[in-house]
Amino acid sequence: KDAGSPAGHPRIISLANQKGGVGKTTTAINLGTALAAIGERVLIVDLDPQGNASTGLGIDRRDRNVSTYDVLIGEAPLRDAVVPTAVPRLHIAASTMDLSGLELELGTTKDRAFRLRDAIAALNGNAADHSDYTYVLIDCPPSLNLLTVNAMAASDAILVPLQCEFFALEGLSQLLQTVEQVRSTLNPNLSIHGIVLTMFDSRNNLSNQVVADVRQFMGSKVYDTMIPRNVRISEAPSYGKPVLVYDLKCSGSEAYLKLATEVIQRERELRTTH
Ligand code: ADP
Ligand code: MG
Repeated sequence: KDAGSPAGHPRIISLANQKGGVGKTTTAINLGTALAAIGERVLIVDLDPQGNASTGLGIDRRDRNVSTYDVLIGEAPLRDAVVPTAVPRLHIAASTMDLSGLELELGTTKDRAFRLRDAIAALNGNAADHSDYTYVLIDCPPSLNLLTVNAMAASDAILVPLQCEFFALEGLSQLLQTVEQVRSTLNPNLSIHGIVLTMFDSRNNLSNQVVADVRQFMGSKVYDTMIPRNVRISEAPSYGKPVLVYDLKCSGSEAYLKLATEVIQRERELRTTH
């Protein structure tokens, strides 16, 4: 096995940002597709009650008999929620609206923050087609709630999409604080994989200014690859397809392939420095 993890454990990465509409789901779908295209075995876990990652990958609501809600509430193992997508090597555990009630339902249960971590750990050593993911990508909801905390507690790292707009950095320090909190209480291994700038428009001065600010503030944590604003990216979900399937040659597809190679490159560097 080349990529992923030597010990047979997947690398678990959360797409997190409490702002909505910044490109979390788009990045989960298309980074997942790009990684799978390169040969990785990828599981996307849809942790947003809106279920946009599931819909964007063409998973019909009728095919969500077992969802991430059932997994987190403890009524089904994660492998039962996993369905294949039209992309080879890319699977998804879909979500349903029930997920929005989870926080209340779990109340103060002691292991409430570790539900997802334990569910992913239980994937190992099960049926062959489910035990050998090299990447698990968790698509978080636009909030720093119990779902996002579950994602962070389960993850090796978080990947933060930031939209190239005026308030891009607003909220980032709160997000980083939450990561710090999770690190000191729930998951000491959590790191920041990187920040990806999304919806970049080179003709727009503001976009360029935001890029400069974010790179100055976050330094090498920011990926070189930027995702351009690209209409093909926004059209693809309505066909239930990743943009790489919808239009492989467009600038959005190119960018997500480039991001995937950069993510893998960072993984290699992380592994050689540890
Ligand atoms: P989030 O999951 O953070 O709420 P989404 O990934 O759903 O954000 O993106 C919000 C909206 O912006 C969606 O309609 C999506 O299709 C669109 N979008 C995301 N990235 C791009 C892009 N690079 N170019 C154009 N539209 C994009
Ligand atoms: Mg989303």
